[in-house]
Formats: sequence, C-alpha cells, structure tokens
Amino acid sequence: MRSKLRCPKCECKQIMHVPVVRDNGFNRLMVECRTSFFGDQEYGEYEAYICRACGYAELYVKGVQGIRIEQVDGATLIDGEKEHSTPYR
Ligand SMILES: [Zn+2]
Repeated sequence: MRSKLRCPKCECKQIMHVPVVRDNGFNRLMVECRTSFFGDQEYGEYEAYICRACGYAELYVKGVQGIRIEQVDGATLIDGEKEHSTPYR
C-alpha cells in the first residue's frame, strides 16, 4: 500500500498516511527507542498507511535496519535467506 498507494483489499486509491502512530495516552508506539549518534533521529517508531474506504491499515517501522534485535523484548530474526533457518521443516 505504501509503494502502490492503492488498498490491496478494496482497490481504493485514497490512502491516509499517519507519520507517528500514538496510543490513546499520546505515547508513540515504538519497537525500540534509540537516538542516532548523527543527530536526534530515532529508530523503531511506527508509521501507518490506512485505506480511507475500508480502514485496512499497514504499519511500518522507521529505520528498521538500525534496530538492535537483542534489545527488543522477545524478538527473534527469522531469516528466510538462510537455509535451515526455520524450525518448520
Ligand atoms: Zn480499502
């Protein structure tokens, strides 16, 4: 939806971009909070693309390559590029 700007569920072309997703306490939803050494850019913040017709929403995490997986509670990396990486064989 982010790249094609069209809802994959209903084909609507009106997509609402929400640059910062907050909970109802106005806290930002984040996978990991970190400040870059090169400025005050943060990683792990969510942004959303929402279809105006049906409400289908996609969430993306900003700066995902900068996220330290070991710092995210319960997170693991499932690497489909590596052979034998999945327990579902
Ligand atoms: Zn839709």
